Amino acid sequence: MSKSLNIKLVFIMLLIIVLLMTVVLAFLARGVQDFHTAQFYSQMESIFTKTELVSELRLAADEGDVKRMDEILSVFMGELGIDRKTRNYYILDGITGEVLETSDTSGNTRIKITLNILKAIRGENALKGNSRADYMDVAVPITISAASAASGASGGFVVYIIDNKQTAQSLNTEILALILQAVLIGFAISIAIILIISKTLLSPIQGMTKAAEAMADGDFSRKIRVDSKDEIGILAKTFNDMASQIETMLEELKKAEKLRREFVANVSHELRTPLTSIRTYAETMSENQGIPQETEREFLHVIINESDRMTKIVQDLLELSRFDSGNSKMAVEAFSIEQSLRDVYAAIALEARRRKHVFNLELEWKLPNIKGDRARIEQVLMNIISNAMKYTPDGGTINICAGSSDSNIWVSVEDSGIGIPEEDLTRIFDRFYRVEKARSREAGGTGLGLSIAREIVKRHGGDLSVKSEQGVGTTVTMTLPIEGAGAI
Ligand code: ADP
Repeated sequence: MSKSLNIKLVFIMLLIIVLLMTVVLAFLARGVQDFHTAQFYSQMESIFTKTELVSELRLAADEGDVKRMDEILSVFMGELGIDRKTRNYYILDGITGEVLETSDTSGNTRIKITLNILKAIRGENALKGNSRADYMDVAVPITISAASAASGASGGFVVYIIDNKQTAQSLNTEILALILQAVLIGFAISIAIILIISKTLLSPIQGMTKAAEAMADGDFSRKIRVDSKDEIGILAKTFNDMASQIETMLEELKKAEKLRREFVANVSHELRTPLTSIRTYAETMSENQGIPQETEREFLHVIINESDRMTKIVQDLLELSRFDSGNSKMAVEAFSIEQSLRDVYAAIALEARRRKHVFNLELEWKLPNIKGDRARIEQVLMNIISNAMKYTPDGGTINICAGSSDSNIWVSVEDSGIGIPEEDLTRIFDRFYRVEKARSREAGGTGLGLSIAREIVKRHGGDLSVKSEQGVGTTVTMTLPIEGAGAI
């Protein structure tokens, strides 16, 4: 890519240089011509009108002394710019225009009768000329006095000066050569500039192309080096940011996809387990007619228990999916969290006593009312307190404490149970995650309780955290804003 861009750039530079130089050349050539022409005519005019040249020529003419006239003109050669090559003077016969004397050493005595010569023959000074013509000329009549004319002298003379514009043309040729040199130098400089440009501009673009190609192949880790702060630098930085965002997004998508697969696998497994036992017990009963009544009652008990489990799992799943889809509405009201804690405590106290737990409720004096969905908050409390009960062997201690700060209330449930291994601590809020599946199942758990609890607390703008030490106990703390989450 960069090669073709380089070639394009070289080509563009060359084109620009050549175009520029052509314009410069055209203007210069024109300027040189005009300057040369203007200078010629003003020089001639000033010599022929402001010096004694004409009067001296006239004196010589009066005597018909062409030689003398030639000598006088030779004296003025320097001032007239006569170089005998590009510029010459001629002394012409004032009537026929015939060349009588000339500075032209090549011996050319035949000249073209120009308009200026004709004008001078008519007796007028011809000190102007056509700037478009490929020559410049002036012609001045040298009239003779009446006395001389009477004495039989000729009809006077014409001094004619012609310049073939060669000087201006050779100057232009030199300028052209100079410009060609400038084009070559410009070209060399432009190649150097292109090399620099290609390093500073094209290499990030090249990097971007490579990174884009890598991205097309699914590799988002390749980053472009950003050295400059210009547009290219910003583009490269934006490109890098975009690549990282896509990379993160892809990772999140992959994670979400993995979670989804795990979730589907978990759901099928969790539903299959109770279904299998129901089927097994029902089949056993239908295939064996003479089962003792006691056993039959036991079997039926299992079947009812397992279908209850299934119902619970399906209900929990439905609740979670309502949270996920945002279809779950919260009935927000101001309510007494203290009353809720006392109600939940009372509901569980009997079971706690049966399991010989020390079961305490310690509340801060005048716990403030909070804004939220009372039934859901009680559901969370019930879940964390039942967990404490489920995972604490009989005869343990369960302390429920609650208090408030400026804007929050907190409730902590501390147990002296089996605890949670450190590596599982972050995962217990995941759907279906259970440290010990068998123990949870036995205690009627679905592994969805804490996921639902966290969703509810999150939607109230609060937080659910857990601290635990294996074999020592667990403390789950719920924090809720007193004023609720605003928009739930
Ligand atoms: P479950 O229905 O299995 O109790 P939860 O989502 O409520 O599901 O809890 C997830 C897992 O976290 C439980 O299976 C258990 O292993 C662990 N857990 C929760 N609370 C406690 C606790 N107080 N002590 C020990 N382990 C706990």
